[in-house]
Amino acid sequence: MKVFYKKKSLKNRLEAIRKKHLKIGLVPTMGALHSGHYSLIERAIIESKVVVVTIFVNPTQFNDREDFKKYPHDIEKDLMELRSLLRKEDMVFIPDNKEMYPEPDLLVFDFGHLDKIMEGSHRPGHFNGVAQIVSKFFNIIKPDLAYFGEKDLQQLVIIRKLVEITNMRVQIIGCPIIREPDGLAMSSRNQLLSGEERKEAVKVYQALSQAFNLADKIPVETLKKNTIGFINNSSILSVEYFEIVDGENLLPIKKWIKNKQVFGCIAVKAGNVRLIDNIGLMNKQYT
Ligand code: AMP
Repeated sequence: MKVFYKKKSLKNRLEAIRKKHLKIGLVPTMGALHSGHYSLIERAIIESKVVVVTIFVNPTQFNDREDFKKYPHDIEKDLMELRSLLRKEDMVFIPDNKEMYPEPDLLVFDFGHLDKIMEGSHRPGHFNGVAQIVSKFFNIIKPDLAYFGEKDLQQLVIIRKLVEITNMRVQIIGCPIIREPDGLAMSSRNQLLSGEERKEAVKVYQALSQAFNLADKIPVETLKKNTIGFINNSSILSVEYFEIVDGENLLPIKKWIKNKQVFGCIAVKAGNVRLIDNIGLMNKQYT
């Protein structure tokens, strides 16, 4: 694999690749890589001739300065692991802030209701920042395929919308959530959990699994209340939101609907660490 720090040299290299009509797959990450990221990269390796992994903790998507400051970094470990996974022709792009934002980005996106709910309403400006950086990467790298995790379901839906409204020709591939053996969704932020918080965090998945078992059996509102109550019973965890939504447009549903993908989406605070997760409750078949 080859490591790039500058847009210009990455672009030059990609230009040569494009002349050979080789398929380019992009996996954007914020580093502190784990098996969730590697599952995206492994799929990209199968489907693309050249994979570009980006590692950049994007400041414009953090609404909370403290969250940005304490976001985990381990570039040496990331590079070591990527070296054993990626092929000779694959690339890692590690720009700094100046490289990505030589000037403040003034782009403002309108995703309608999609960025006003769930993560959007709890993290104002978050998805605008995500759209800014992802569209920059799409413009620089011009990938044929780009891989995103279903772990961040709302982000995945918004990126699909971004591609639709900007007419970019990249194909967006959603990849399933990778979990720890006890069910906790893998996340770079998990390493910020204390021992006790980590033990309690498993309740998020337990609650989602219970919701899965009860979907379509009890009313939507009762299921929401039960799920939130189960987690809030812990003295360490507190639910920010739990919404049961139509997987296509992320609108909350009031009644169970057959023949539609329905997801339960949750955000939980464990101490100062924010955990997000989701589960397909009906007709799970997202990618
Ligand atoms: P991040 O570094 O957290 O921005 O994540 C980079 C990409 O990896 C995003 O598309 C995430 O949705 C995806 N991702 C993160 N955690 C997981 C996971 N546990 N399973 C699957 N994909 C994940």
